[in-house]
Amino acid sequence: MNPSPLISVIIPMYNEEPVIAETYRRLTDVLRRTGHRHELLFVNDGSADRSPDVVRELARQDESVKLIDFSRNFGHQVAVTAGMDYAAGDAIVIIDADLQDPPELIPDMLGKWREGYEVVYARRVKRSGESLFKKASAALFYRILRASSDISIPVDTGDFRLIDRKVCDEMNRLGERNPFVRGLVSWTGFRQTSIEYERDERLAGETKYPLGKMIKLCLDGLTSFSHKPLKLAGYAGTLMSAVGFLYMLYVIGMALFTDSTMRGWASTTCLMLIFDGFTLIMLGVIGEYIGRIYDEVKGRPLYIVRDTFNLRRTPYPPAD
Ligand code: UDP
Ligand code: MG
Repeated sequence: MNPSPLISVIIPMYNEEPVIAETYRRLTDVLRRTGHRHELLFVNDGSADRSPDVVRELARQDESVKLIDFSRNFGHQVAVTAGMDYAAGDAIVIIDADLQDPPELIPDMLGKWREGYEVVYARRVKRSGESLFKKASAALFYRILRASSDISIPVDTGDFRLIDRKVCDEMNRLGERNPFVRGLVSWTGFRQTSIEYERDERLAGETKYPLGKMIKLCLDGLTSFSHKPLKLAGYAGTLMSAVGFLYMLYVIGMALFTDSTMRGWASTTCLMLIFDGFTLIMLGVIGEYIGRIYDEVKGRPLYIVRDTFNLRRTPYPPAD
């Protein structure tokens, strides 16, 4: 291993002005004590507040602070991906800007890394200061994902983790349009281990993950790592047609052998509503996949950088 490794820390931020200075202070404190060189890569995901200006001010005084400034909001997972494209470190840490993931865990992660693990993820054993809905929906999501995905994605684990340079290089080759970073890291299959922690409250401000973004993240996770929703739609469709066929035999029997076939407006309407509803749901499932195929086929860049600060390294893929 490199005798004096460089540690990169990726900090995606979206309207995090009230917390950045404190995040910088806590991270720098911890990293200085490790004795390693470090860089702090703040990725500004189109904040409407002064977040990037605060980072620029810090970067003027401390050249380990670097800024990647997006032209607009591209989403948290994309911001993390951009951070990985630019990170120069031998080990790369991904952490939220709001100090919900304690920087004080980084030395433990580095310890595991030195033992030879290439991915050290932090598992939340407790989350404080978050709504019951958030906790319940997150717990449910991680379990559905585990049950449906073809690879093993650790439960109750966000993106707070350390990855080795090798993992970062492999991640950079993927270039997925709707990346689900925590799943993709597992997918690369390197030696992985976990440490446990209690998730703190947000230092200040509101969550930047409203329901819509949470649903998008769930669907990205499910569709990128499993074809099961498609298969389930197929199985359920088969079952419903079988039931439909049996009912048809009954209806034909009634028509041929009795004279009570004029009744049944209610049952016909019910069947139509159920079957049509079901068909639309199945179309929706297929639509989720097709939309993502469409995103891949268009081949647009994943993000657009307006500006960088203190960065010399060219991102992956190298510009020609
Ligand atoms: N974030 C981002 N872009 C977004 C939404 C969030 O870069 O579109 C960042 C945000 O600034 C924070 C991290 O992603 O550093 C996690 O977001 P947040 O803390 O709001 O999520 P929660 O902890 O509530 O799940
Ligand atoms: Mg948070």
